[in-house]
This record gives sequence, C-alpha cells and structure tokens, in this order.
Amino acid sequence: MNINEFPKEVRSRLVPAPGGDLVYNCLGCSAVHGIDSLLYTCPECGSVLMIEDRDFDRHLEIPGPLWRKIFDFRKSLNIPALKGVYLFHEFVGPDMPLENIVWLGEGHTPAVEASPELQKKAGVRFFFKNEGQNPSASFKDRGMASAFSRINHLIKNGVLSDVLAICASTGDTSASAALYAAYLKPHVTSAVLLPRGKVTSQQLSQPLGNGAVVFEIPGVFDDCMKVVEELSETCEVALLNSKNAWRILGQESYSYEIAQDFSYDTGRLAVVVPIGNAGNITAVMNGFLKFHRAGIIETLPKIIGVQSSHANPVFRYYSEEDPSRRRFSPVSVKPSVAQAAMIGNPVSMPRVIRLAEEYEKIAGQKKFFVVEVSEQQIMDWQLTANRYGNIACTHGGESLAGLVNAKGQGIVTDEDVAVLDSTAHMLKFAGFQQMYFENNFPQHYGITPHSSLVNVPQAVQPPGFCEQPETDSRDEEEFGTFVKETAKIIAGRLGLKKKKVIP
Ligand SMILES: *Cc1c(COP(=O)(O)O)cnc(C)c1O
Ligand SMILES: [Zn+2]
Repeated sequence: MNINEFPKEVRSRLVPAPGGDLVYNCLGCSAVHGIDSLLYTCPECGSVLMIEDRDFDRHLEIPGPLWRKIFDFRKSLNIPALKGVYLFHEFVGPDMPLENIVWLGEGHTPAVEASPELQKKAGVRFFFKNEGQNPSASFKDRGMASAFSRINHLIKNGVLSDVLAICASTGDTSASAALYAAYLKPHVTSAVLLPRGKVTSQQLSQPLGNGAVVFEIPGVFDDCMKVVEELSETCEVALLNSKNAWRILGQESYSYEIAQDFSYDTGRLAVVVPIGNAGNITAVMNGFLKFHRAGIIETLPKIIGVQSSHANPVFRYYSEEDPSRRRFSPVSVKPSVAQAAMIGNPVSMPRVIRLAEEYEKIAGQKKFFVVEVSEQQIMDWQLTANRYGNIACTHGGESLAGLVNAKGQGIVTDEDVAVLDSTAHMLKFAGFQQMYFENNFPQHYGITPHSSLVNVPQAVQPPGFCEQPETDSRDEEEFGTFVKETAKIIAGRLGLKKKKVIP
C-alpha cells in the first residue's frame, strides 16, 4: 500500500523520525550518564544501568487509540527496518535513524494457542509465544538487534571502529551475538565464553558456524560472566550480555508484541517467563510499564517468573513475603535441563527488584510472582507440550510447569489467559529429550522418565535383506520384494486395514 492510502491520522507518524532524549540511569547511585559511548555499569558506583527517555512524556500527547492504530498500520508497511523490534521505534530506540537499524528477521514471533487437549491438561487457557522462531532460534535476537543496531549506529557515526563483541553465555546469547556480529563484518568480530560441557552441541555449533572465537571455560555461566566483566572493564570490547542496557530495550518488544497480539487488551493476561540472568523478565515488565504509561494498554497483565529448584535465587528472594526482610543471596546452581537459565547470581537482579516494586505500585495490587518448578516437571511438561503439537523447548516446558504450579497456588485463575514464553527452539535441546527417552539422565538431574512420554525409533528389517545395503547394488526385482516386505511389516505393526478392492 502507498503511504497516501493509509488513514490520514496515522500517515505522518507511520515512518518514525529520530527523536527522544535517551540517557543511562544508574540503579545504584541514580547518576545519569550520556549515551554517546557504550557503558555497561555506572562508572561512579559500578551498578547496572537502565536506559531512559527523558522526553517520554511527548508520547502522552498521542492518545492510546491513535498509538494502537499507528502500530497496527505500520505492521503492513514494507520497510525492513520496521519489520522487527523497531516496529515500536518510539519505545525501543527512538533516536535511531532507520538506515542504521540491523534487521535479521527477528521479532513478531507467533503467539500460538496451545492445543485444546494440552489446555485441558494444564487447566488454563494459554498460548505459547514461540521465540524459537527468531533467526538464531531464541528470544536473545530481540536484544541483539537493538544492541547491534546501536553498535552499527556508533560505527556509522565514527564513534566506534573495529569492534570486538564479547559475551559470556549459557548458549543462546553467544549464538545470537555471533550471528549479528558476523552480519556487520568487517567492522565487528566476536568472541564468546562458554562454560565447558554446559551448552548443547547445537548451541555450540552456532557461534562456531558464524566464525566467532569460542572459548570454553572450566566452570558455570556465573564464572564466565566474571571473566567477561573483567575483560570489559579492562579492555576495549563491546559487552553483549544483558548487562548491556541496549539489550533490555530491544527485548521490551516482546511485551509490545503481546499487547498487539491480543488487540491491546492485556487486563486478563498472565505472562509467564523463565528467569535466568533476569534480563528477559526485566524487559517484559519495563515494556508493559511503558505501554501503560503511554495509555496504549489500560491494565497491566500479571507477570509470573519461573525458576527451576536447581537455580532459584530469584524465587528464594521473593519467597520472603515481607519486602523489608528480603535479602538477595546468590546460589550455587545444580545441573538443569533449563540450561539457559542455570544461573545462580543474576546480573539483572537490581533491575528486577526495582521494576517489580514499581509494577505493583502502578498496578495497585499484587501482579508480580515467582514460582518454582522441579526438573522432573520441566521435562514432563516440555514433552507433553510437544506431544500435543507445540514446539516447546525445555524453557517452554519450564514456563508450562510454572503455569500449572501457579494455577495450583491460585495465582492464575480460570478467567486468566496465559502467554508462555517458549524462549528457544526445541531442537537446541534435543539431547535432553534423548536422555529422557533413553533413561540415562545423570543422577543429579533427578529425572525419571514416564513411560507414556517415551518414544524410540523402531527398526524395520525385512528377512533375507542385508542390514546396511548399498541401494544401487539391488536389482529391480530384489528392490520390489524389499518394498513389499517392508510395507507388510509396517502395516502389521500399525495394524492397518487393507483397502477395499472396488471390483
Ligand atoms: C537466556 C535464556 C533464558 C533466560 O533469560 P534471562 O534473560 O537470562 O533471564 C531462558 N531461556 C532461554 C532459551 C534463554 O536463551
Ligand atoms: Zn551509580
């Protein structure tokens, strides 16, 4: 459609112009820092930062219904820069010129209603938002699109050159960072630090394929994070972990999309998110808060964070009911199938504490919850979800297990509609499914397979045929017999009925 064919009231706002007044806000000492350079922590006190638009109130001049129209009509434009997280440009990165935006196909993942049978089992109406359908197959691409667009912007403006993008990762951050860095060659290269043996082979193959320098470190993610922090404090590198506040901005698009997916009617929604380093849940809350402040949504949805009992520092913090008595302490993690969330000392904890408090103040009631699930529940619900036609990864299973527990505790009621973050593609975690099916989980996971969920391939061997044949060595007659014999065995095992022969 030509711009002139859009409704008059949205035309001038369909293609956003750079604006806003962005600054870094320190969550520790409240210092304000300019955004001209990449900062990860406050130079004065070392705390984490959030990016704030000091000119946010200009958005209030546009009424909520008009904003909704702008975003809905903008979605039908054919401008690549606005096809991803920057569809919500004014909220995600208002000062970005469109020509510096990097879009690799991330964002606008489908919110797919779970199959009726699965919803019955869970006892709640719910949707999976399939974040595994992002380009590197996890939600991390949202934040990376924002962070790398910023890097691209700074390169184009001559502020940066020859950037080395670096991150610690439980697998998906490095996959995503390596992809976006490779796209910005030759100006950007990447190096990633992984806990040895604690990312899946699929995840490991991703940064290797994109040409990142991959370091495997003895230890867990939290240890890799410390090394990367040391590097980013002492050397010229661009840190791409969610400590980087630009990542949070891009990830807020997840909430904006949910608002749009549900026609901006968010009052009955319960948004369920697995928590690892806590960047995602930070962004999800901040996104809804910003849309609420601008009048684009009227009611804040419930937010339900989920943690495995094997990596549960945020759950522990909030299990103390009295806010004045809450104390954060890191935990030592145990092996978890929700491997990307196996983090004992989440970098974004100060952000969560700040935002959860603000969220409930504005909502005027309890709307932020953290529930705990067992490793067994995660696997069982992941496999059950996939059995019913969904594409849940282990973390999607964690979300579903969390929803079921939240329903059991009365946090979610029959009137609620839940949106579950299936944060990555199930194929990245196929190894856990295999361990379940083969019943060989190392003992410390504490997972026993239910036979009803196990599935294994069946060998078919027609008698008299070689087990590893070279296809081209068969003659036509022999091959004909092979096809008939094999089909007979399969028809027998499946109990198929013979077709009626019509005379
Ligand atoms: C990173 C990640 C998480 C955890 O998100 P945080 O922002 O670290 O809390 C969960 N699931 C998957 C698949 C991830 O890659
Ligand atoms: Zn500070």
